[in-house]
Amino acid sequence: MVDFIGTERVQELVARRGTARFIKELAAEIESDYLRWSAFDKSPRHATHSSVGVIELMPACDGRLYAFKYVNGHPKNTAVGLLTVTAFGVLADVQTGYPLLLSELTLTTALRTAATSALAATRMARAGSRVMALIGNGAQSEFQTIAFHHMLGIREVRLYDTDARATDKLERNLARLRLPGLKVARCASTAAAVEGADIITTVTADKCNATILTPDMIAPGVHLNAVGGDCPGKTELHREILLRADARVVVEFEPQSRVEGEIQQLDADFPVTELAAVLTGERPVRTSERDVTIFDSVGFALEDFSSLRYLLRIHHEERGAQQQIDLVPDLDDPKDLFALLVPQPASVVARPGVPA
Ligand code: NAD
Repeated sequence: MVDFIGTERVQELVARRGTARFIKELAAEIESDYLRWSAFDKSPRHATHSSVGVIELMPACDGRLYAFKYVNGHPKNTAVGLLTVTAFGVLADVQTGYPLLLSELTLTTALRTAATSALAATRMARAGSRVMALIGNGAQSEFQTIAFHHMLGIREVRLYDTDARATDKLERNLARLRLPGLKVARCASTAAAVEGADIITTVTADKCNATILTPDMIAPGVHLNAVGGDCPGKTELHREILLRADARVVVEFEPQSRVEGEIQQLDADFPVTELAAVLTGERPVRTSERDVTIFDSVGFALEDFSSLRYLLRIHHEERGAQQQIDLVPDLDDPKDLFALLVPQPASVVARPGVPA
């Protein structure tokens, strides 16, 4: 039998742990894997594009465990009542190849993306950052707010979305959450939201080379957490921002980010630093209060590997609905798979009232 974690079980696990603790623990799990970067078999994700979106497979393996995530990105989906991003994944035992866990990863992707963003910002943003602009107020936005509030100490979040209903929803959800000491300010434009912010998170969805941020909006010292540009032809930052002399760009896995990240707009030799090197301290990224640090996030398979392992652990730790599914046949003779399709002889079939 294979452990199964559906959406309801993730809701239950997050409720038992508390969202902030869940994100912090997940960030620690992700960090622990980035710290052993060389142990992983890494590859860029396999992306299948269409005119409206992308479907991707994301594998990662450390020689003991193997994981993959199926994830899509369809920015027009919300217009027909569907999510832009949905996902599920598998964790497997390398020794036998048997799956250990089949899990939902839609909610979990939002949690792990926020955890990774905040983890990167702890090493990249100026100490004492308190104000964050949040451009794009859709499905990922609450998760980003909670992570930055708890892990960075953000005390004011400034919201802007081209869809006012998305900002209404975010304001409503944040009001319900009552994050201690967090001021929520609604802004009339991106320019108004980013003015004076210490951190700018862009988490918009549009399948084009958008310029959500332009060079005139970027003050010295700011940290950019650019989450929404994550596909070829789908970016959020004006390229001149990346080319600033004081810009320090960090990516997750360089071969993947060259194709999918903001840096797809630049020459292949444009210097970037991988997040693993920042987290180990091998390549500190911020050298002055005036550097503009940029986390060019696209989402890397290692983060889903860490998430699946974390989910499996707390699934066993926490009480509640611990479901298993018969994803793999259980056989008396592993060479006799066909036995599953052969009717059992009448003599061994137990019928009510008739001993077999
Ligand atoms: P969503 O569709 O729920 O929300 C996106 C929001 O962006 C919408 O409310 C939309 O109105 C807004 N928007 C679009 N263009 C805008 C603009 N020019 N200015 C301001 N707002 C604008 O999508 P989501 O699930 O929140 O995901 C957001 C983005 O993050 C997607 O592009 C997705 O692919 C990406 N993503 C990245 C990662 C990662 O690891 N880097 C993980 C998950 C999602």
